[in-house]
Amino acid sequence: MQSSFVYDVLIIGSGAAGLTTALCLNEALSVAVISKTTLSSGSTPWAQGGIAAVLSDQDNIDSHIQDTLIAGGDLCNEQAVRQTVENGRKSIEWLASQGVNFTEEKNTPDANSSLSNPSAPNSGQYHLTKEGGHSHRRVVHADDATGQAVSGSLCERVLEADNVDFFEQRVAIDLITHKKLSLPGNRCIGAYVLNQNDNRVELFRARFVVIATGGASKAYLYTSNPDGASCDGMAMAWRSGCRVANMEFNQFHPTCLYHPKAKSFLITEAVRGEGGKLLLPNGESFMHRFDPREELAPRDIVARAIDHEMKRLGADHLYLDISHKKPNFVLKHFPTIHETCLKFNIDICKEPIPIVPAAHYTCGGILVDHRSRTDVNQLYAIGEASSTGLHGANRMASNSLLECVVFGQAAADDINKHATDIPPPPMAPLWDESQVTNSDEDVVIAHNWEELRRFMWDYVGIVRTDKRLQRAKHRVDVLHQEILDYYSNYKVSNDLLELRNLVNVADLIICSAIQRKESRGLHYTLDYPEKMDSPQDTILTPTNFSTRDW
Ligand SMILES: Cc1cc2nc3c(=O)[nH]c(=O)nc-3n(C[C@H](O)[C@H](O)[C@H](O)COP(=O)(O)OP(=O)(O)OC[C@H]3O[C@@H](n4cnc5c(N)ncnc54)[C@H](O)[C@@H]3O)c2cc1C
Repeated sequence: MQSSFVYDVLIIGSGAAGLTTALCLNEALSVAVISKTTLSSGSTPWAQGGIAAVLSDQDNIDSHIQDTLIAGGDLCNEQAVRQTVENGRKSIEWLASQGVNFTEEKNTPDANSSLSNPSAPNSGQYHLTKEGGHSHRRVVHADDATGQAVSGSLCERVLEADNVDFFEQRVAIDLITHKKLSLPGNRCIGAYVLNQNDNRVELFRARFVVIATGGASKAYLYTSNPDGASCDGMAMAWRSGCRVANMEFNQFHPTCLYHPKAKSFLITEAVRGEGGKLLLPNGESFMHRFDPREELAPRDIVARAIDHEMKRLGADHLYLDISHKKPNFVLKHFPTIHETCLKFNIDICKEPIPIVPAAHYTCGGILVDHRSRTDVNQLYAIGEASSTGLHGANRMASNSLLECVVFGQAAADDINKHATDIPPPPMAPLWDESQVTNSDEDVVIAHNWEELRRFMWDYVGIVRTDKRLQRAKHRVDVLHQEILDYYSNYKVSNDLLELRNLVNVADLIICSAIQRKESRGLHYTLDYPEKMDSPQDTILTPTNFSTRDW
């Protein structure tokens, strides 16, 4: 017997974005939040650095806006930037009111780092750090585990909320729209959801649906993101008629620990800030050949240099060395990195750390307006899954959690405002499994998953060329067909669903990268190394869908 649920609002994803919306909705609205793993999940709990907001009296809104526009390579939507930055203080206050314990000025240890200048004065209640691209101290944090603090508090509040039901181990498969039901207009009315506890597909209907499923970094072989960052929401939205924007801008973190058993462990850029040197396998340093700032060059330049040297030497990793510093210094500044590396028999006080760059953040996503509305009626997208225009061609550090809160609240405000105008969702058929069987060849999924992430890394990674992109396009087309055939014949599983979405979105990334005939922000191609005079967004439109009629 299949389960069927009806709510006012269905929120797919329980990271910072989804939980913010859930908590800002009117208490009279019934809300379902689903997560494909646990309540505290996604990239949110992994965020370390903090959240950018103008709080110091030495800082100002225009400066934060200007820094964001510069980082974004002239491709940000200025209105979205202003909306985000102007709501910075309010968002931090709201998070604090939900119980997030940000580090206060008076409790701060001396962080003697070149990336966070301790001599700069602070003002206000919270300790503020300074990160790459920010011209002022404006990053609020909860020690070095900001994401955990945010996720922890928001989860607690959601569990207390009487109007919110939470469903774990639920994987949204596809959205249900009027179009798919052959009804007029294109309204979203719910989703089919795989319950991983009993492998049955459930029907969730709702008057409003919010996608908060995070980014697409799992499309790449190496990533700092947790499992599950498989762009499910982007793929579902695209299949339902939503446009996507700027999918070619994938941010790579230069230094992730390289070890077969160390999944996604990030080596913070503070290690380079404190004098860590990047080394080739023969122990030679190389950053001076790429940028006069050497190890302190911006993230994308360092990532590109490492990628270049790895490709030149055919190396699968390089090294980051801080062992020339006194052990006391290393232990005081990097206790977590020291402890984690020791688990893999790497003593960072004595030897260099094997590193590889890793896909870190998806700047593009589902195109939304200032109220987080997509092209499909009553369908919203928020957080890393969306493209608000804030990041343009490159995300500035610590702007992303702020965007989750600002646009999560904007979605809730809009739903609250229209709550009484929108009729209940119409009936929809239950999931039909009569034509499919259990898979007898799961190796197809494992093989294609590996192949996809490998060619995305090699051909659509940090440094691109037309030839590499064409190779990737050819391969993704073959995989797409193979996975569609598989999907049509076998029962769904989480792995199959993630692979289907990854192939879908990998195709969108490749097509967007092929369209951009210039190097801008995070998109760097050897065939067009210069910027074009007039920057344009790359917007892809699914065919045969009508856009919204709000
Ligand atoms: C290591 C690391 C460090 C970072 N540091 C910072 C930082 O210091 N400051 C900053 O601003 N940003 C930082 N970021 C980026 C930031 O953490 C993310 O952009 C942000 O947390 C995204 O939040 P979200 O709510 O959009 O998605 P996520 O937090 O990724 O949550 C996605 C949710 O969707 C669910 N989900 C996904 N697909 C489905 C599906 N099909 N069905 C049901 N549920 C689904 C997941 O289970 C999860 O609950 C960092 C990211 C990483 C990985």
